[in-house]
Parts: sequence; structure tokens; C-alpha cells
Amino acid sequence: MMTSSALPAAPALLILGTGSLPVARRLREILPGAEIFGLRGRVEADDVIPCDSFGDTLRLLFGRDRPVVALCAAGIIIRALAPLLGNKRAEPPVLAVAEDGSTVVPLLGGLRGVNTLARQMAAALGCPAAITTSGELRFTLTLEQLPPGFRAANPQDSKRFMSDLLAGVGVRLNGHSDWGADWLTDSRLTDDPDGPLRLTISPEARDATPDELLIRPQVVAVAVTAASADKARSVLARHGFSEQAVACVLTPVEDAGAAAVLALATALDCPQRVTPGGAGFADLPPDLTRYQTDGVTLLVGATPGAVRALGQPRGSVTVIGTGPGNREWMTPAVKAALTAATDVIGYQFYVDLAGPYRPDQVLHTSDNRVELDRARHAFRLAAEGRQVVVVSSGDGGIFAMAAAVLEALEDSADPVWHAVALRVEPGVTAAQAAAARSGAALGHDFCVISLSDNLKPWPVIVNRLDHAAAADLVMAFYNPISKARPWQLAEAFDTVRRHRAPETPVLLGRDIGRPAERVTITTLGEVCPDQVDMRTVVIIGSSHSRTFPRADGKVWLYAPRWYGEKPVK
Ligand code: SAH
Repeated sequence: MMTSSALPAAPALLILGTGSLPVARRLREILPGAEIFGLRGRVEADDVIPCDSFGDTLRLLFGRDRPVVALCAAGIIIRALAPLLGNKRAEPPVLAVAEDGSTVVPLLGGLRGVNTLARQMAAALGCPAAITTSGELRFTLTLEQLPPGFRAANPQDSKRFMSDLLAGVGVRLNGHSDWGADWLTDSRLTDDPDGPLRLTISPEARDATPDELLIRPQVVAVAVTAASADKARSVLARHGFSEQAVACVLTPVEDAGAAAVLALATALDCPQRVTPGGAGFADLPPDLTRYQTDGVTLLVGATPGAVRALGQPRGSVTVIGTGPGNREWMTPAVKAALTAATDVIGYQFYVDLAGPYRPDQVLHTSDNRVELDRARHAFRLAAEGRQVVVVSSGDGGIFAMAAAVLEALEDSADPVWHAVALRVEPGVTAAQAAAARSGAALGHDFCVISLSDNLKPWPVIVNRLDHAAAADLVMAFYNPISKARPWQLAEAFDTVRRHRAPETPVLLGRDIGRPAERVTITTLGEVCPDQVDMRTVVIIGSSHSRTFPRADGKVWLYAPRWYGEKPVK
């Protein structure tokens, strides 16, 4: 999995009342892409995104990995996020700022630059930053989390190394002025030529010596084709470069999806970048040092910045399902894809459900309405190097965009489209969500049938219903009814009634996971198409499906694990 292509998320500024708006606006000016969120009813302003619950919004943004700056008491933030805390490496920066802008308190995200952010904000507000991290305080340096473009060869030693520095042990600094490690040169750490510790910045392939913290600047771009990719690691070794010093794997765009190229990027744990169609590597900046061996070119820059952005990013299309509606049912992988997206394609309603978005993210909600056109649009954008997310509700592969995306790709002869990084991230589908609300309506064999005859002849649907009913499968109907298809559902019920008793339980789940959610449990004898609309999923039980009363007066519905006679015990 490559995460390095993800853009850093823009900070969110949360305010509880209008009083803190001027401070929030001042901070927004210095934080690129930052947005202000305010409690609905208490803060009304055109440049403020309204939210209903402070705690939920805080947790949502935190879950979406966005740096959060809340202008309120630290305690409010701590209590809101407490249930989510656990993994120190995964948390985004979280800061409390006094409402009047008189102090900035970094709370979480020490490994993700919260102290740097706190200092920057404090400077803008002309107030102190309540820094409590010792290394930061003494040296303005965090060795546990290095700036982008640098990675430690022996990260396991960084904590002990910092403790030694804090205890006053002297350190020799090597190589920092050669590879653009300004964060080190600008820190308060001073070179002690006689010190027993060594801090070295070097791309060379060797192990750290005892008492050394060895940091690799990612100054090497590895340019390969599909044919030469498997030679790259030995070429790096031959020229004495550490694999950790590689910033990116660069290929002609058509080769970006080749197995050997993917394997190389995974092995080197770095992003892929591409040069546009067939151009080769001739057009790349001349000031890079080149080593050419076995069809592999190593391009070495003076700083990580010199090679990080060569060519363009490899484009991606990720098809996601947001779940039926509420955010708790959105998977972390789907949230990560949304955070990394530069472009989001889908129906307005579903795109809105998956928000909020950063100002730099482009939403394509009205470009066209035809699924196949949307899918093609996704590939056209990805071919330009964009990170495109295609949004469906529920699961993206169930009566949703994934199939259209695959169809568009199969129909295309363009090698660039086939080289795009295509992924499908699963989601919770409507039938699962409705079944969960009822108890266990899908507890045994079931099938899922769309009653839409837009792209499928009605007789085919009736035939499937007939066979599924005869096979005694639990059935979930999607797209059960619409203005254009008013009579089909009645015929579907009649088809099932030929095989199943009138007492068979039927579940109608409407707007599951959304504020207007409604769950109705009735029977096949009584159910009537008027009770159903496009936002309903219909689940018809098998001959074994059962209901029994719940403590709250409603009923539980489940399909038992067994079939035939109930087993004893
Ligand atoms: N990809 C979606 C299904 C899209 S088809 C999924 O996996 O859930 C659209 C149909 O799905 C609707 O007509 C309805 O039958 C069902 N559906 C989608 N979301 C729903 C929800 N929140 N509650 C009830 N039914 C829903």
C-alpha cells in the first residue's frame, strides 16, 4: 500500500461561538487550505461550514485524519476524542487554542508535526505555544518523526538517541549541509566534533554504527521501464545507494501498472511517478546526476525536493462505497481514499454524504448523469495524474459504479487507462445494514436481486425471482419501485407468493443509516407496493425465517442457521 501520494489534509478550525471567529480567520490565513467549522445556530457566516454537533464533527475530522484546531477548552477536546485514542503514529495533529487567541496548546500528533504547527500559529497570534515535548523545547527537533524526504535507517534508536542528547551527550553532525536537511541546520542542535554520538545524513548503502543515528535523504529517483524494473535494486546496490534513499520510482506512463514496476515500488516503499506517454526520461532536469546501468537510470538530486516531484503522480481511480448513509458505517479504507482524492465523481447526493471536502478537492457531480460517461471521465482525469474517487452509496460493487468503471476500462484500448492504479474498496451494502437492524434477516443463504429493468429485460427478472423463490432463498430486492416502474414490484411479490406462505416475514428498510430511517416488519400476505419506494430495500424471508417479540414491543427477525428440522442442542 502506498500512502506517500496522499496530500496532507488541510487543517479544520472548529469554533463554538462567534466570539472566536476573528481568531479562527487569522489562523486560516496562515494555514493553507484550512476551513472553519462552526456550530449551527451559534455561528452564522458565509465562510463558516455549519455543523450540528461539536463532538461528532471533531471525531469525524479526526477520523478523516485532518489536523484539528479547536478554539475551546482543552478538556472539551480531550473528552470528545478520548474513545478514539490508541495509536500514537496514526493520529493527526490536534490543538486547543484559547478563544481569545491568548495561547496555543498542542495536544496530540507529536509525531505528525503538531509542535511545528503550534509554533507557526502562536507566531501569527503573537502568543505563547504551550510546548511540552522535551526534544522540541531544547533543540526544536523531533527525531522520532522526520520531515518529508528523510527517513531513519535505525528509527528504533531515535528515542534513546534523543534521551542522550537531552542528557547533554555531545553529537557530531555529518552530511547535513550536503543534502538539504535545513531542519537540522536550523535546529538548536550544535555540532560537537568530539562528541561520542553521530548524527549522519547520507544516502549511502551502509548500516548505522553504534551510537549513530543514520538518516537517509530521499534524493534518488529510480527511472525504469517494465523491462528493466527487476534490475533496479541491484543497480542501486552497485552504485552504493541505500534503498531507503529512493524518493520515487519513475516509469513511462504505460509501464506504471506492470507487475515488476509495482513490485519495485512496494519493495522500495515509495510512490510511483510517471513521465507522459513514451517521452522517456530525456526531458528530465539536466542538473540531476545520472547513473545509467542495465536500462535503469538513477537520478540523484542535491536535496529531496529536487527529485520528489519529477514527472507527474501516477493517476488512480478508486471506487468506493460509503455505506448506507451514516459515517460509522464508512470503512477506514474508504475514508483514506476520500482524504487522498484530488477529484471526486458521483451523484450529488452520495458525494455530499461522503463530505466534507477540502477546497483543493474538485467535485464532479454534474458533469453528466450516465454511469458509463462518469466512469470514462474518471479515467480521463486519472490519465492526467489525478487521484480520482468514484463514489457510490452502500457497496460500490453492488448495483453501483464499479461495474461501469470496469466496463469503461475493458472497452478502452488506451494503454494509459490500463496503467491507472484502479482499486475498489468495499462498503456496507443496504441489505446488510437493513438485516442488521432487524436481527439477522440474512442469517442463512440469500440472494440479491435488482428489480430495475432499465438494463435487464423484465422476463429475466421474473425468471430469477421464480427460481430463487423455488430454491427457498431469502431475497433482498434493490431498486424495488419507481415512477417509471410502478407495477413490477406487485408482480414480483405475486411470483414469490406462488412458492411461499402468506406468513413469510418481510422486512422493509427505508433510509437505513440516515436520519429518516424506518424499519417495518410485515408478512408476504400483507405487504403492499405502496409501502415501498426507491429508498427502500425489501427483504423476503425463506420458509424458515422467524420473528419473535422484542422487549421494546417491536420484533426480531432472523433466518436460522439450520435448515429442515431444528437440531437438538
Ligand atoms: N450500491 C448500493 C445499492 C444501489 S441500488 C448498495 O450497495 O447499497 C439503489 C437501491 O439500494 C435503492 O433503490 C434501495 O433499494 C437500496 N438502498 C440503498 N441505500 C439504501 C438505504 N440507506 N436504505 C434502504 N435501501 C437502500
